[in-house]
Amino acid sequence: MILDGKIVRDKILDEIKEKIKREDLKIKLAIILVGDNEASKIYIKNKEKYCDYVGIETIKYTFTNNTPESEVIELIKKLNNDISVTGIILQSPVPHQIDFDKVSNLIDSNKDVDGFTKDNIYNLYLGKETILPCTVKGIIKLLEAYNFSLEGKDIVIIGRGNIVGHPLSLALQNKNATVTVLHTYTKDLEKYTKEADILISAAGCAHLVKDYMVKNNSIVIDVGVSRIDGKIIGDVDFDKVKDKVFAITPNPGGIGPMTVAMIIDNLVELKERSKNG
Ligand code: NAD
Repeated sequence: MILDGKIVRDKILDEIKEKIKREDLKIKLAIILVGDNEASKIYIKNKEKYCDYVGIETIKYTFTNNTPESEVIELIKKLNNDISVTGIILQSPVPHQIDFDKVSNLIDSNKDVDGFTKDNIYNLYLGKETILPCTVKGIIKLLEAYNFSLEGKDIVIIGRGNIVGHPLSLALQNKNATVTVLHTYTKDLEKYTKEADILISAAGCAHLVKDYMVKNNSIVIDVGVSRIDGKIIGDVDFDKVKDKVFAITPNPGGIGPMTVAMIIDNLVELKERSKNG
């Protein structure tokens, strides 16, 4: 079975579009771009496109490469205090004079679309309700969309990065899965991957996962992205692995579309928090 992130994304977006219309929700996303990173511009265009589709207003603030950190901080403070703004994204990467961790953490946790502020990560650590990082939420929502339960499952994650592997391991434990995290210092990946009911690879290492490393009839989620000769290559050797497993995500076309959909989903969650808070 192919776990199609585009189909699930479109369904989620259509449901949100309907909800925004039905409840007449006024949602506004502020996007801050510092510098002229070409990939960032493409990511932002994509975010704007989907916001526009569901009826979310976007406002973009563009700064030049040599903008001082203080100017970006000033803007974040202003947006935190603006009640018409539901969510704020500081697009990564930022130029060297800006400390991304410090500045992005100044975003009000109730406007933190990416789920990376200390308050939201701390709540994730405590197993409390939180705004989940978009890729983490996208992986869980994709599995749920296909009715796979996580409770009691042996889940193996390759990668312990701050964007995917690490927060994902916490989120899945909060869903009562038994989670094993592998990384570059793991002596024998195969020893663990072969035992996984669900294997999630977030390493960014092209075709790291081979068919002999997965369990028959398991579920394989490919998050990692490597760009080789302008082409996106996933962590999983899809063509060989797909015949051995019960379900697998394509890459591209699996977790990427889900990540974008979760930006929209988090914005709606933030809006609901602001109404109840
Ligand atoms: P990261 O670089 O912070 O972490 C990578 C992790 O993988 C590290 O913990 C490292 O130890 C581990 N690793 C790398 N090579 C390995 C190997 N050969 N064997 C075992 N472990 C290995 O990355 P990140 O920011 O957490 O992102 C992970 C991957 O997911 C990247 O490829 C990134 O591009 C991709 N990503 C995809 C999406 C999406 O929407 N599809 C979103 C976010 C990130």
